[in-house]
Formats: sequence, C-alpha cells, structure tokens
Amino acid sequence: MSATAHGRGSSTGYAEKAERLLADVAAAQRTGAAGFGLAKKTSNVFRDRGEKRAPRVDLSHFNQVIAVEPAAGTVEAEGMATYADLADAALAHAAMPAVVPQLKSITLGGAVAGVGIEATSFRQGLVHDTIVAMDILTGDGRIVRCTADNEHRDLFRGFPNSYGTLGYALRLTARTLPVRRYVHVRHDRHADAARYRSSAGASCSSPPVRAPAAPRVAAAISWIGTLGVRSAKSSPFASWYVSANCV
Ligand SMILES: Cc1cc2nc3c(=O)[nH]c(=O)nc-3n(C[C@H](O)[C@H](O)[C@H](O)COP(=O)(O)OP(=O)(O)OC[C@H]3O[C@@H](n4cnc5c(N)ncnc54)[C@H](O)[C@@H]3O)c2cc1C
Repeated sequence: MSATAHGRGSSTGYAEKAERLLADVAAAQRTGAAGFGLAKKTSNVFRDRGEKRAPRVDLSHFNQVIAVEPAAGTVEAEGMATYADLADAALAHAAMPAVVPQLKSITLGGAVAGVGIEATSFRQGLVHDTIVAMDILTGDGRIVRCTADNEHRDLFRGFPNSYGTLGYALRLTARTLPVRRYVHVRHDRHADAARYRSSAGASCSSPPVRAPAAPRVAAAISWIGTLGVRSAKSSPFASWYVSANCV
C-alpha cells in the first residue's frame, strides 16, 4: 500500500460499502425494526452472549487499512481493521499507531468503543486519545464524520467507552509515531519496590512523566525499550510486538 496514493477510502471501496450499508439499514428500518446490533466474528470482551433477536448489521468487511501518512503522522482505517494489520501497514512506513493494544485481533473501532491501552499509553494516553476523526453509523441510520471541534464533537467526545451504544465506528483516523527498525530491550530486576519505582521514574524522565505507583509485590521487573537501528537477534513476534509497543 502506498502512503498517500489512494483517495479517502477509495482503495478499500469504503464509499461503496458505506452506501450499501446505509441502504440496508434504511430497508431494515422500513420493516419497523426497533434497532440493530453489531454482528462481529471476534471479540475481546468475555461475557455471556445469549442469543438476541435484534437484527444484526455485519460490519466485518469494514476491515481495511486505507492509508498510512507518515508525514501527517496518521493512519486511516476502517473500524474493524485489526491492530495486527494496522501495525503491519504502519511499520512498512517506519511508523506505528501511537498506541497498539496487545491482542492482535483487537480492532481500531473496538479499542475506541471499549477503551484500549498499552505500553506507550504512559505518554500517549488511551487509544481514543490518539483518534483524530471518526465516521460513525448512528442508530437513526446516518453516517456522521466526527472530530473534536466540528458539529458532531459531542459524539466524538462521548464515543470512547460507549461499547457500541452510540453507534458504530466505520472509519477512523488515528495518530502514528515514527519508529526505527529495532528496539533494544533491557530487563531490570528489582528486589524492592522503592528501587523499582525510582528506576522506572528515571527511565521515564525525559520528557518527564509521573513515576509509577509502588507495586505491592516483593519483586518487579521493568522492561526498558529504546528505539535503535541494529539487532543481534530478533524473532518475528518479538519484533512485531516490541516495535509496536516501545517508544
Ligand atoms: C484477555 C484480554 C486481554 C486484553 N488485553 C488488552 C490489551 O493488551 N490492550 C488493550 O488495550 N485492551 C486489551 N483488552 C481489552 C480490549 O481492548 C477491549 O475489550 C476492546 O474493546 C476489544 O476490542 P475488539 O475490537 O475486540 O472489540 P469487541 O470485543 O468486539 O467489542 C468491544 C465492544 O465495543 C463494541 N464495538 C466493537 N467494534 C465497534 C465499532 N467499530 N464501533 C462501535 N462499537 C464497537 C462492541 O459492541 C462491544 O461492546 C483485553 C481484553 C481481554 C479480554
């Protein structure tokens, strides 16, 4: 995928998919259906999911990365794009999503609606803090583009942690960070909490961030990741995970 060659969603057929979706939702509403629920093949929320009779809207085909724009520091993707695909696409452009949740099947839309966090969050915030814009399918069958300062800003601000109650994110633009090819990882073992805390605080001190609270454990290990250019050895998983999570 080239960084900017595609128009907004044109490479993935986003516009056509969105148009078809609106027509399907309008048809369902004409039958008098009270509402619709999300049909999705994977989930990272473990809970009892009894069969529900509500009509379902299948958004699993809204799963493409649309464009990585390293110069703008953004990646644009459909709501069901997984973080594995997002990270792969961004890493090909020496960038990473600013926060990359650990599980590969977590989707961009799900991480905003259900709240995502990972190692870089200590500087970057939660996944939703990295979102610049969202197209959201609302319960009344519209797709609205929300940003922090447009007429849909209330929806933009209320959407994180809404678990699908306010609508479904179909397309999102998220911030990225530049990366280097390798990460040097150091494991420091600490036998007491005070030393762990002061060491972790020192590692995080440029730019300064708050030191982590003292853990209530007898020993702790801190993982210090530093972006670099050479690696003596790496495994595909380690390089995917570590590259995507340490800055
Ligand atoms: C074992 C385990 C480990 C986890 N580890 C991490 C981790 O390392 N980092 C992390 O950040 N999180 C982690 N999580 C939490 C996870 O990020 C959230 O549960 C997240 O919401 C899952 O996203 P998903 O794409 O799988 O969405 P789902 O599990 O499919 O859905 C989550 C909720 O969001 C709604 N939803 C899904 N997609 C959309 C959409 N496009 N628009 C609107 N609503 C939507 C669903 O209706 C549902 O209510 C973990 C969860 C578990 C169970």
